[in-house]
Amino acid sequence: MHTREACVAADRQDPLAPLKARFDLPPGVLYMDGNSLGVMPRAAAARAAEVITQEWGTGLIRSWNTAGWFELPSRLGDKLAGLLGAKEGELVITDTTSLNIFKALAASLRIQQKRQPERRVILSERDNFPTDLYMIQGMIDLLQQGYEMRLIDDELPLDRALDEDVAVVLLSHVNYRSGQMHDMAAVTRQAHERGALVIWDLAHAAGAVPVDLNGADADYAVGCTYKYLNGGPGSPAFIWVAPRHIPDFWQPLSGWWGHQRPFDMTVAYEPAGGIRRYLCGTQPIVSLAMVECGLDVAREADMAEVRKKSLALADLFIALVEERCAGHPLTLVTPRNHAERGSHVSLRHPNGYEVMQALIARGLIGDYREPEVLRFGLTPLYFGYADVWDAVEILKDVLDSKAWDKPEFKQRSAVT
Ligand SMILES: *Cc1c(COP(=O)(O)O)cnc(C)c1O
Repeated sequence: MHTREACVAADRQDPLAPLKARFDLPPGVLYMDGNSLGVMPRAAAARAAEVITQEWGTGLIRSWNTAGWFELPSRLGDKLAGLLGAKEGELVITDTTSLNIFKALAASLRIQQKRQPERRVILSERDNFPTDLYMIQGMIDLLQQGYEMRLIDDELPLDRALDEDVAVVLLSHVNYRSGQMHDMAAVTRQAHERGALVIWDLAHAAGAVPVDLNGADADYAVGCTYKYLNGGPGSPAFIWVAPRHIPDFWQPLSGWWGHQRPFDMTVAYEPAGGIRRYLCGTQPIVSLAMVECGLDVAREADMAEVRKKSLALADLFIALVEERCAGHPLTLVTPRNHAERGSHVSLRHPNGYEVMQALIARGLIGDYREPEVLRFGLTPLYFGYADVWDAVEILKDVLDSKAWDKPEFKQRSAVT
């Protein structure tokens, strides 16, 4: 596809192309940041109005029963299950990914305290998303039981790090910065062989790549709904527990929503038997309700087609950048190998921050991550081949003209 016409032709053949009409995309914007905040499903505005004016405004407290608010975390969890290789009743949508990491980490450490109490290492990756590492550090500090965090990196590969001291492994399936993807089944198998449990963070995987939690024999999984699942800004996250852990699982945030019968108002905490145990307190219903609009579109798409198109879009993006932007100091951070790649492409540029601000000013929205990394998300539900072509032309023009070299593009905002 070395002409724009060829890209337009590929869009015409694309079986996912009709789904783009299910989203509201602002005119004049090429959106390559769906890995950070997904776009708005067209159904969301009407659904939000309904939740606010009818369910809240008119239904008031009755809506906990009549509008299904109480069941929402598990009903939407069941809707998401199929996309993650999970079954109904195995996950809930609730709280934030960071909070769900806390629950999964506490629960898996507790399983290991019973089975192999001498293990004291929580293994993660130096390059993991910071909140994952911060939550591990907070847990170690809270427990005061001599746990330590060990991080895999170029010097310490997984195979060497995974020794008989490791209790729990917490990894991102797809790395937020590089887009590098772990082989979930292989890593889980290796960890289990060495006696460790595995928590997968699916923030950049859910809705982006095929995931098979049961097939991979994972122990716990958490992730966001506001990225590739288009649930809306700050929409609640999800937590999944392997069915084999459900008989003896536990959660540390023992709020009343995780109680077997919350409205019995008993003094003693009695945890719910199933996955609702992972709820803590009253849910943000307006935000939670929006998650359904994104899930409904995602469930219409064939995940194999989504993956095929995501890889094709990324291959095209990489090829065009290398061809059209040759001579500029850009380095590809993302693996070329399909099996090791998620659904975004990252490029390093010495003036990455300024370049991204200049791209945004031209309507090409990606984002920037330290150090020097430009991230471009590829979201097959609403992004096409001609969009990739147009994006690379903007990148080329911004680099050729040095349009990024302006004082206003050096100003750092709170959120990059
Ligand atoms: C985006 C992301 C998060 C976000 O966590 P929140 O608690 O929702 O802010 C966590 N982990 C990873 C790997 C992410 O990419």
